[in-house]
Amino acid sequence: MGGCCCCFPAHKPPRENPMHPSREPLIRHGPDFTTLHHPPQMITYSEGLSAVGRLKAGFRTFKRTIYDPLLLFVVVGSQNPKLFGPLKTGQFPKYMVFACSDSRVCPSVTLNLKPGEAFTVRNIAGLVPAYSQRIFSMGSAIEFAVTVLKVEYIVVIGHSCCGGIRELLSLKENKPRTFHFIDDWVKTALATKKKVEQENSLMSFDEQCTVLEQEVVNLSLSNLKTYPFVMDQIARGKLKLIGAHYDFVNGRFETWQP
Ligand SMILES: [Zn+2]
Repeated sequence: MGGCCCCFPAHKPPRENPMHPSREPLIRHGPDFTTLHHPPQMITYSEGLSAVGRLKAGFRTFKRTIYDPLLLFVVVGSQNPKLFGPLKTGQFPKYMVFACSDSRVCPSVTLNLKPGEAFTVRNIAGLVPAYSQRIFSMGSAIEFAVTVLKVEYIVVIGHSCCGGIRELLSLKENKPRTFHFIDDWVKTALATKKKVEQENSLMSFDEQCTVLEQEVVNLSLSNLKTYPFVMDQIARGKLKLIGAHYDFVNGRFETWQP
């Protein structure tokens, strides 16, 4: 599997979040007054924190800026009742989102989805296999989202520089398997890979990857229609499917409906 900008980089990635506009570590001291009236900005942390310390620092930021945004000004114990009050009794997400596990692809961050807005599944390449009673994890997530939560939209998001897609496009006949699981997983889209290769034979590998990133989203959207409860809700006009592609290299997000 290739290195460069993919899900499985051969080199150690930078510590700062690459989506931060300045990519500079940010050290904050004292209260952050700017977040009281504006949405919280992307925050990265200074080096030197332990692994657990970094997680706790992140939670403190979340608690201060989202969960208890008025805590500094009002009274201890005040929370964000408008956001978290209803969530204490249940979840009512409008969206189910499929996205890649890639650490650079965070739908909640990139789409500014708040807690409770999106029931999310992330896996290698954000793939949705066709209906099978052997795929317990995937099937149960879709079934729960559609039949219990009654989400109104299922969004499948592909992304630029996807390592899963690069691995899929790198697969060759009779090539020894590289991984225990990954090759078999991305082969879910093997027919789509062959089609993209045939129809875009003059393109470079990277260009074919970009085409395949979007065609695999279309495959997942088609596969969703093999789930009877999905088709039932679509037929009732209560569920819509949306394809999307997040290009973090150029900062673009596009959507389409099948
Ligand atoms: Zn990916």
